[in-house]
Amino acid sequence: MRAAELADRRFACLEGCGFCCTFQPEASGRELALLRARLKPRALPVTVGDGRTYLGLQNKCGACTLLERRQCTQYDLRPAHCRYFPFHLHFAEEPEVYVNYTCRGVERAPGGDLAPAFQAGVLANAPAGEIERHERQARETYGAFQRKARRAGAWGDADAVVDSADLAALLTRSGLEAALRRGGDESDADEAWEDALAPFAEEDVTRRPFYLAPDLRWLTFARDGSALDVLEMDERGDLHPRGRVEGIAGWRDAPADLAPYFRSLAARRLFVGSVYALVDEEEYAIGVEPATWLRLAEVTADVAVRARVLAALGTPADRLADETARFYDSAFLDSPTIGGFL
Ligand code: SF4
Ligand code: SF4
Repeated sequence: MRAAELADRRFACLEGCGFCCTFQPEASGRELALLRARLKPRALPVTVGDGRTYLGLQNKCGACTLLERRQCTQYDLRPAHCRYFPFHLHFAEEPEVYVNYTCRGVERAPGGDLAPAFQAGVLANAPAGEIERHERQARETYGAFQRKARRAGAWGDADAVVDSADLAALLTRSGLEAALRRGGDESDADEAWEDALAPFAEEDVTRRPFYLAPDLRWLTFARDGSALDVLEMDERGDLHPRGRVEGIAGWRDAPADLAPYFRSLAARRLFVGSVYALVDEEEYAIGVEPATWLRLAEVTADVAVRARVLAALGTPADRLADETARFYDSAFLDSPTIGGFL
């Protein structure tokens, strides 16, 4: 298992945060039965989709219905998915563990080691046989992808493209546009910027970018022309205006000191999985190498937009790279990919 992100970090959950309780955990039949028995006669709201059951959200968009004053009211019965956080296990050619940097309980700490916390949070809580089942499925999916890509003449080395790319240069207009060209895309940086802003205009608030502010406020945004309304969400899902940031349209170079975070994103197997997902989505009419350039360009624009929003919110320049990483990390984990998550 790849586990590079466990090194040099530490984790301690923060009192009064509760941000991960907005992510709607999946719950097994046994977990639901235990919760229902405890909560009787109160009903346990759930949502069902893709053959899975998830704990319901307050008013369908706030925090989990079991969260009160930012504390889990059923902590000892919380599902395994809650126990996994802030770790995510992604299954590619081999499993890889990610640490969700959106969680402010995670800190960079030279010499730190999250391996025991990963063992206790994920490996000790995963249902028997689940990891092996995911590994088997991922091997089959990746094998099938590679065979199809080779047959279609689309196979290529995504890692070699990432290794050859000047990632710091990509954070500039000319670098981004060069990446788009190498991906066979004629659009310019302003168009890529607009695409990256599109989620900020989503009707459905659960699909908009979400940012856990340093003071633990849950912030979301609503696009209004070249401005964004800043909204704070409470547990019930109600939105409270918290100002407006102007001048959000049109490409702005991202801070150069974002390059190390960008490099760590591009090194994740999840990134390669998202490249393969793009090739598959395009029915193998695009090769792995051009698709890698396109995904690099897309991630660049996503990161650059978030850096701009945070700068407009008044984030100090020396905190901007780290805050952008915290803002984007969850969105990156949501990228379409082949393989799967635990
Ligand atoms: S996001 Fe992190 S710090 Fe916040 S409640 Fe979840 S685990 Fe704790
Ligand atoms: S069950 Fe508890 S820990 Fe899990 S999302 Fe709901 S409130 Fe949070």
